[in-house]
Order: sequence, then structure tokens, then C-alpha cells
Amino acid sequence: MPALLQTNLPAPFRKIASGKVRDIYECQEDLSTLYFVATDRISAFDVIMENGIPDKGKILTKISEFWFNVLKPHTATHLVTSEWDKMPAVAAPFADQLKDRTMLVRRYKVLPIEAIVRGYITGSAWSEYKKSGTVHGMPMPEGMQESQAFPEPLFTPSTKAAEGHDENIHPDQVKDIIGADLAAKVAELSVKLYKVARDTAKEKGIIIADTKFEFGVDEQNNVILVDEVLTPDSSRFWLAADYAVGKPQESFDKQYLRNWLIAENVRGKPGVKLPENIVSSTRQKYIEAYEMICGKKWVA
Ligand code: ATP
Ligand code: MG
Repeated sequence: MPALLQTNLPAPFRKIASGKVRDIYECQEDLSTLYFVATDRISAFDVIMENGIPDKGKILTKISEFWFNVLKPHTATHLVTSEWDKMPAVAAPFADQLKDRTMLVRRYKVLPIEAIVRGYITGSAWSEYKKSGTVHGMPMPEGMQESQAFPEPLFTPSTKAAEGHDENIHPDQVKDIIGADLAAKVAELSVKLYKVARDTAKEKGIIIADTKFEFGVDEQNNVILVDEVLTPDSSRFWLAADYAVGKPQESFDKQYLRNWLIAENVRGKPGVKLPENIVSSTRQKYIEAYEMICGKKWVA
């Protein structure tokens, strides 16, 4: 099957958002739910490539579904179903665009923060630590090395910018954005969910260096886990077998793609067409991630 790059559903569906990877629809028949469709688009260095990775959207949907099931005993979630047989009949005519790559979710008011949890020091946290010895403004132990585990996982939120880049903030600043009560709930729940996921992944040879959760609230102000969870798009996965402190770790899923973009000197340029070998080796990485995490063979 070729990669699915765009979706286009007619009424009663209406596309309400389109991210780098996902297209999101509401359906006039039931406005309390949303359809999250993961396409095969792939981005690197914040730019979408011209061609996609066949099956990537299906693989990401399966990985998210796996984690929703793992986390279900610990939190309410927005997932209604990602099983094609259980989708509302109105979706049936659009199997070519939706089947196996769609999550039907309950619609909630989304809290305007990104609930990042970090188990290991890397990325923007490492950059900040090198400059000031802090992470999101919190003082850290002296002498930490790049990619080292924190003594305890840290709740390190960021703003959710409508435009431009999200900004790392101190956990105390979350109170000003969503109130002290919700801020405390979100911080505690985020760290708890990260620990469950970290321990589950560790047994499978994967280190979850960090991840980003999003939460919504229902009418009673209960906190609900929303969005995608613990996919390579929202998390840094490292192979435990290759892990070593004191240096950056290779990104599990996009290492071939990023290395190729840098070698070709097209990093960050729009409209780049990937050669077949980069498409297939990247696809293989997503399949490997799925198989390690879910413990099942990928059947296309
Ligand atoms: P990016 O490609 O960088 O992720 P993006 O975040 O704009 O861009 P998506 O992640 O595809 O694109 O967008 C998903 C949007 O849907 C986010 O704004 C997210 O907060 C929101 N969302 C997630 N779950 C729910 C839900 N259950 N109800 C309402 N909105 C939700
Ligand atoms: Mg997003």
C-alpha cells in the first residue's frame, strides 16, 4: 500500500485541525467525539517530508492504543475505540482513509499546558543544565552527565503555544495557568503514568527518556488523559542495549532520516523527497518499535 498523506472526508465529517501527522475530524452525528486520523506523513527538524512512510500512521495508532490499555488502571482516558469494527457506521464508507489509523475519542476541554515528564537529562533540559545547573528553573545535582537518569523523574511542563515554540516553565507556573488544584493533580498523575510506562518499556529493552502527555477536563473537572500517548512522536525512546551516558543517544525512529537530511544538506528545508532506502529503513524502525513495545509481529 502506498503512504496515505492526506485525508479528505466529506460531510457529515468536518476537518477541524491538521497537525504535522494527524488530521482531526468532528462528525455532525455526534459532536461529543472526535476522530483522530494518523496519516503516514513524517516530519523531521519541524518540517514535513514530501513523501510519507507507508503504514506509519497505523503503527503509531497501535502503539498509542497499547499504552492507553496499560495506563487505563491509573487514569481516565479519552479513547473510545481504535478498532475498526467498533467505529460508528458513518465511518464505514471511508475505510480506505480511516481503517486501523483512527482513534475515536471523547472530546474534552484540553488544558493549555504540555505535561512533559523527564526520566533522563537530554534535549532542552541538558542545554539548560549546562548553562545554569537547573532544569526548567529547578536546581539539579552537580556533575550530571548528558543522558544520565535523574534521581527521580521530573515533571517539567511547557506552555502550549498556538504559534511558535512551546516554552519550558517551572512546575509552579502551571498554577497560574490552570489553578493550584488542577496543577497538583496533573503533576502527580503525569509522574505516576510515566513511571508505569517506564517500567513496562524497560522490560522490553526500551528506555523512555522523556514523554509529553496532554490532559483534558470533563464537566466535573476530572482530569482525563487525551491526545496520543507514548508514541515515538511524543516521546524519546532509546534502545536500552545501546544506552551510554556522557553523549547524546540516537533517536530510535528518525535516526536514518535525520542523518540523511544532514548528509544531503537539506535539514529543515521544505518539500524534501526521500529516497526509497530511507523510506524503507525508517519504516523498519517504526515496525521494530511496535514489535518491541507491543510484543507482537507487525502484519501489514
Ligand atoms: P503537532 O503536529 O506538532 O503535534 P498539533 O499539536 O497542532 O501539531 P495534533 O497533535 O495533531 O497537532 O493536534 C491535536 C490537537 O487535538 C491538540 O491541540 C490536542 O490538544 C487536541 N486534543 C487531543 N485530544 C483531545 C480531546 N480528547 N478533545 C479535544 N481536543 C483534543
Ligand atoms: Mg500534537
